[in-house]
Amino acid sequence: PPRVVVITSGKGGVGKTTTTANLGMCLARLNFKVVAIDADVGLRNLDLLLGLENQVKYTAMEVLNGECRLDQALIRDKRWTNFELLCINKPRYKMPLGFGGKALTWLVDALKKRPEGMPHFILIDCPAGIDAGFITAITPANEAILVTTPDITSLRDADRVTGLLECDGIKDIKMVVNRVRSDMIKGEDMMSVLDVQEMLGLPLLGVIPEDSEVIKSTNRGYPLVLKNPPTLAGLALEQIAWRLVEQDSMKAVLIEE
Ligand code: ADP
Ligand code: MG
Repeated sequence: PPRVVVITSGKGGVGKTTTTANLGMCLARLNFKVVAIDADVGLRNLDLLLGLENQVKYTAMEVLNGECRLDQALIRDKRWTNFELLCINKPRYKMPLGFGGKALTWLVDALKKRPEGMPHFILIDCPAGIDAGFITAITPANEAILVTTPDITSLRDADRVTGLLECDGIKDIKMVVNRVRSDMIKGEDMMSVLDVQEMLGLPLLGVIPEDSEVIKSTNRGYPLVLKNPPTLAGLALEQIAWRLVEQDSMKAVLIEE
């Protein structure tokens, strides 16, 4: 069966969408079939990060209303054709009334039953916060990637979210620490990855350094992991994909550049 992974954080702007887009691309490049679902309905931007915004003709809402087939709403990436994107709604729309965990679970089940074969990974990009949109996004998932940055506000939200995920029966939770700066850690101006891990008590899937290349790739709609020559953050994201596949985690040693 496919692995249904929700990428979540609690706090906004910590790197969920960046992680979803790049992880999806890496997994596709490793020959897995991947569907990424943008469940951040209010602030939809996974399509932008992937540079696919002009190709969104149909969304899950039209599928649920019987106005198109599921495969019409799946946007196939031209670079890696085993990567597909599903948006819930057109941009600048609010969360549609009646769209909740049940509807998302129905979509995930429909993806599993596709005649062209079920995907290996279904990645769900979760909205920030812990209200209805969050609950919807985590409902069909059986594992979670918790993205956090090494600061107390992000960590407090991450801790809260971990509790909610566990309540929902999601026991497989791994964390990604994003925007880490070794110079600041050395100067004791930033929490170390080890500190973060001790606070959250979760297995560490990976560490992504602060890297201006991430912002450039966001603005270009070109996922960082496709960039040649590779970048620091891109390599970190690639390792995260590997560890996800191998159900592995890493030790929180001091990350040297
Ligand atoms: P979220 O989906 O959690 O709201 P995003 O993935 O959209 O967060 O990232 C928010 C912003 O932070 C984006 O502009 C992105 O380019 C930037 N960003 C994310 N990770 C990094 C990083 N490691 N280094 C530098 N900028 C980053
Ligand atoms: Mg996002």
